[in-house]
Amino acid sequence: MLAFIIIISGFTTVNIFASESEVTLVIFHINDVHGRTGAEAYISQMANELKKSGGNVLIFDSGDRLHGQVAANLSEGESMITVMNAVGYSAMVPGNHDFNFGLERLKELSEAADFPMLAANVKDNSGANMFEQYKVFEFDSVKVGVFGIITPETLTKTDSRNTAGLAFEAPAVTAETMVSTLQSENCDIIIALTHLGEDESSEFRNISDAVAAVDGIDLILDGHSHTLLENGRTVGNTLIAQAGNHSQSIGVAEITISGGRISKSAKIIDLSDGELIPDEKIIAVIEAEEAKIDAITSIVVGHTPVLLQGEREFVRKQETNLANLITDSLIHATGAEIAIYNGGGIRESIEAGAITMGQVLTVLPFSNLVVTVELSGADILKALEHGVSEYPELVGAHIQVAGLKFDFKPDAEPGKRVTEVRLSNGQLLDTGKIYTVTTIEYLALGGDGYDMLAHGQNLIYYGGDAEAFANYLKTEPDIKSEAEGRVSVFVGNPLINTSGSTAPKTGDSDNIILWFCTVSVVIIGLKVSPFIRKNRKCV
Ligand SMILES: [Zn+2]
Repeated sequence: MLAFIIIISGFTTVNIFASESEVTLVIFHINDVHGRTGAEAYISQMANELKKSGGNVLIFDSGDRLHGQVAANLSEGESMITVMNAVGYSAMVPGNHDFNFGLERLKELSEAADFPMLAANVKDNSGANMFEQYKVFEFDSVKVGVFGIITPETLTKTDSRNTAGLAFEAPAVTAETMVSTLQSENCDIIIALTHLGEDESSEFRNISDAVAAVDGIDLILDGHSHTLLENGRTVGNTLIAQAGNHSQSIGVAEITISGGRISKSAKIIDLSDGELIPDEKIIAVIEAEEAKIDAITSIVVGHTPVLLQGEREFVRKQETNLANLITDSLIHATGAEIAIYNGGGIRESIEAGAITMGQVLTVLPFSNLVVTVELSGADILKALEHGVSEYPELVGAHIQVAGLKFDFKPDAEPGKRVTEVRLSNGQLLDTGKIYTVTTIEYLALGGDGYDMLAHGQNLIYYGGDAEAFANYLKTEPDIKSEAEGRVSVFVGNPLINTSGSTAPKTGDSDNIILWFCTVSVVIIGLKVSPFIRKNRKCV
């Protein structure tokens, strides 16, 4: 409790008990939690303590909240709204991934929320606003105007079907309009609640600066790039704050207005310090939401007549029927030509019989986002090489594919093992051609050593991999009892096609050797590569 008081008082050394001419606001803000609730009980406790002692408190979320973890995904965002209502959020701006369940679902969730979802720059075909644009809060005669802005990147950073018919106005243009609207409503303080970010890999990286350059914005509470700004950063007279990601830290901004003069500061509370006191009521709400998931995980999403092989000694070294079903599901979800998945992402087998959503989540527990990228045949070949470079060792990076089949020579030097690559239409892979490849965001950003996948252009996001797999199972796909020879050991001449050239097919005698090699279980030299996820920057 002592630590709590110290931290809180650290933000409230300016007088929170408003004197006649001075009013202080304490603003808790968080962003990019991606379905996590770890900070909520602490935010609630701090906010309640401040309110009890007469403080002026606002609580904001800067987006990418509703999707990402099991409870959030299975309830299609509802569990998150329930927790936010209990905490008493003042407003949120939806992030790109808050569209992951579709626009209609996001509208339903905004109606279930006790707070507004603010987004001033999102219009429909007729030019009408899709969300409330702003809200004015009043404290002791001080008016605080808050407007929301969503990144135009949302058009590619969620499934494009989720934003069909929407237009995203340029953030700085919207900000200009909002500032003059809020000034005309006599707001003393203007806050932009944004999901824009400052990711250097983003072509929109300067957008938050452009918004900050709009005269009249006191504070920008940003998200999207997962940036931890310890004390915010200042552009002109505007303070930009962002509080990292994944519910690991809480941003606290403080604004004091005294005789018309505004002073402001931003700080971060790091939850790993472990010294804060949680609000037990919020913990109970979170636990109740997670308990509801039990009912959802028992729902049957498909059937299999055979064992679907997902044990690590198989999926980290060779093709399996389960891996094929998973990669097929990515193609089903995206319409891409080729799918690439890492064997280490597949965590369990599924016994013959009914398949429940709970089993799907056990097999694919990481809430990976499905993406597509445009990738050259040359980079695809490099990915295949990487995927078998450590064969026959068990490695998480071992490749699983759909839309193509290839052979490789395990005794050849890593990087020069792949021989023939044939697409599902029978043609050989053309290293000079561009193909649409579906994978998971983790790999598309270079995870598991797949740096070449990060060379892809036109990165487009879809939903989660477990959702894609469950949806595919619902279509009652033809389930094979064995692998189909998509990734096969080969002994023979290298047959890689380069642009314009042709190559002969693999012979039957080779296939027999290949079958023998694939079926043989090699136990020598097992070296397990731990499944370490790169710190994802899930914008
Ligand atoms: Zn985002």
